[in-house]
Amino acid sequence: MTNEQKTQELAALDKAHFIHPTSPIKQQQEHGPSFIFTEGKGVYLKDTNGNKVIDGMSSLWNVNAGHGRKELAEAASEQMKTLAFTSSFSTFSNEPAIRLAAKIADLSPGELSAVFFTSGGSEANDTAYKLARHYWILKGKPEKKKIISRNNSYHGVAMGATSATGLKPFRDFTNSLAPDFYFANSQSAASFRHLVEQEGPETIAAFIAEPIQGAGGVHPAPENYFKEIRQICDEYGILFIADEVITGFGRTGTMFGMEQEGAEPDMMCFAKGVTSGYAPLGGVVLSKKMHNDFKKLSDGVLLHGYTYSGHPMSCAVALENIEIIEKEGLQENAAIRGKELTQGFKAVQARRNTIGEVRGKGLMVGLEIVKDQGSQEKFPTKQAPFLIAEAAKRGLICRSVVFGEQDALVFAPPLCITKEEVEKVIEIMEDCIVALEEQVL
Ligand code: PLP
Repeated sequence: MTNEQKTQELAALDKAHFIHPTSPIKQQQEHGPSFIFTEGKGVYLKDTNGNKVIDGMSSLWNVNAGHGRKELAEAASEQMKTLAFTSSFSTFSNEPAIRLAAKIADLSPGELSAVFFTSGGSEANDTAYKLARHYWILKGKPEKKKIISRNNSYHGVAMGATSATGLKPFRDFTNSLAPDFYFANSQSAASFRHLVEQEGPETIAAFIAEPIQGAGGVHPAPENYFKEIRQICDEYGILFIADEVITGFGRTGTMFGMEQEGAEPDMMCFAKGVTSGYAPLGGVVLSKKMHNDFKKLSDGVLLHGYTYSGHPMSCAVALENIEIIEKEGLQENAAIRGKELTQGFKAVQARRNTIGEVRGKGLMVGLEIVKDQGSQEKFPTKQAPFLIAEAAKRGLICRSVVFGEQDALVFAPPLCITKEEVEKVIEIMEDCIVALEEQVL
C-alpha cells in the first residue's frame, strides 16, 4: 500500500467513525483529518504523507520535553511490566505515586505540599472546586460555595470546569451548567473585589485563575494583579486556586507560572506538562494549612476519587519527565528561547503592518493580527485562520484564537526548541504575514 492509499483509507475510517474533540465536524467530513501523524522527534511531527512539520503548539501545550523521548517510553514500559495498575482508593498506595507526590510537593511554590491525583486538567479543576467546598463544610461554613472565575478563561470541559470557563462559546455548547459559578474581569483585581462584595464574601468558596490565560489567546495578567488577588482572598477568607495546567512544568520560564507573580495559591492544579503528554495525568496540590485542616477535621471517607488517581504508569512517566526537565534545564531554555521568539516576532512587527501586538511569557506567545498597526483597526473578516493554514503549508503548526474581538495566533513550542528552530518559526511566520498582506492590503 502506498502512503497515499494508506492516508485515504485512514481518512475514510476517520470520517466514518472518529468524533474529534473540539473540532469542526463539517470540515472533517468534507476534507478528512488535516494531519494523520505517525511519528515525532524533538519539535517535529511527521504525517502519513511523509510531511515534516514543527509542532509550534507542543500539540495541546503539553509536550514540554518534546517528541520521541525514549526514556519516557522506557519508564512506561518498565512500570507496566512490573505493576501496570493498582488503585489508590481505600489508602492503597504505590511507589511511583508516592514519589511523584513528594517530588511535586518539593517543586511547588511555598507551602503547597500535598497532592491529589487525577487523569487530566478538567478533573483537576473539578477536584479543586469540590475540595474547596468540602473544606468550608468541614470548617462549619457550608454557605461558602460560590466559585469566582474570570472572563476569557479556559478551565476544561468537565461540568464544573466548563461552568468555570469564561469563554462563553464553551458554556453555550450545552444548555445546563453547574450552579454557583461567577465571573470577574480578567484584567482588574478591583472587579474581583467588587464581585466579592456584591455577592457577599460569606458565600464565596474560592477564586480560580490561570497565571497566563492560554486558550483565551495568551494573556498575561497585569502587573501586581495576583498580589492584589491574594490580598483580597486573605481579607475575605476565600481560597485561591491557580490553574497551572498549561503554565506548570517550565512553560513560562520557571517551574510554575505563579513563581513570577509574587502570590502563593492555596491550591494549584496541574496536568499536561507533568508527563509531557506521554501519559494522562493531572492533579491538585494543596497548601500545608488546607492539608492539616483536612487531617484534623475529616472524620469519614474523602468521597472523591478517579479510578486512575495515582496511576502507577502515569506517575512513573511523570517522574522521568520531571527529571528530564530538571537535568536539561528546560525551564531556563523556555525563558531564553521565549525571549528570542518574542523579540523575533517584534522585529517582524516592526517590518510589517499587520501585527498589532506581541504578548506572552516564556514559550507562550500570542500575536494579535490587525489591518493597520497604527490605528489598531481590525480586519472585517478574521485573518488568523488564513495564517494558520499558510503556516501549515510551510511546515509549522500553530493555533488561531478568534473568540470575541480577537484575531490572534498563539505559539507554545516544546521547551527543548533550539535557537535555529525558533528562527525557523519566525521566518515561516513572516512569510505568512507577507502572504496575508499581499492578499488583502
Ligand atoms: N485548564 C487549563 C488552563 C487548560 O488549558 C486546560 C486544557 O487545555 C484544562 C484546564 C483542561 O485540561 P484537560 O484537557 O486535560 O482536561
